Amino acid sequence: MASVLVVEDDGTIGDVVASSLRSHGYGVELARTGAAALESAARGPGFDLVLLDLGLPDLDGVEVCRRLRQRLPAAVIVMLTARRAEMDVVVGLDAGADDYLTKPVRLHELLARIRAHLRRAGPPAAPSVVQLGDLSLDVGGRRVLVQGRELALRSKEFDLLARLAREPDTAVSRETLMTDVWDEHWHGPTRTLDVHVASLRRRIASCDGARVPRITTLRGHGYRLEHPDRAPGDGPGEVAPEGRSGAPG
Ligand code: CA
Repeated sequence: MASVLVVEDDGTIGDVVASSLRSHGYGVELARTGAAALESAARGPGFDLVLLDLGLPDLDGVEVCRRLRQRLPAAVIVMLTARRAEMDVVVGLDAGADDYLTKPVRLHELLARIRAHLRRAGPPAAPSVVQLGDLSLDVGGRRVLVQGRELALRSKEFDLLARLAREPDTAVSRETLMTDVWDEHWHGPTRTLDVHVASLRRRIASCDGARVPRITTLRGHGYRLEHPDRAPGDGPGEVAPEGRSGAPG
């Protein structure tokens, strides 16, 4: 089941769109503000598609789009806008949106557009560059940069970080890590995993003063990569509109 995040402050439009999507079999989460949308994006493993109203009461819609794009690199983002000016559309697309619809939106057109996007998107492709605070992980180039400086990792350390970074803030079991990083038919001891996690932690921790992800041990299960932009223990309410995010231009 595809999951859709609907960001719409207008109560009626939000409810109609959400219930229509649910009746067509989509999982739907409804956010009434930009801050709530960013919270939802930070909390879960991800949405397949975001419907984003650009006129929000708390944050600028284009800025919300930019931040959602960072947090949900694989999601399709469709902007809903009352603004018809071409400049706004261009700015929105530059901010990472895939498509836009101008209001008033016809429901059947919206559903058709969503179906087409999700068909085209197929299984979510792994993004080639993952941004985690000051750390950027270039999967294709097999490089890790922290504040623009290269962090040297051994091959398996890189693979391990890349695997964990595919699902930040999500528990990944030891078995999954062993099969995905080492060997798809792994059945033996997993001590090598702990050794590699320990050395990976040391290397990441050597980046003094940078906002870098942390690897948390989940006893009896595996590991979880904590996104540095989510304060641990703060719960889902920590997304403060503290101005610009620190992503590179
Ligand atoms: Ca609105």
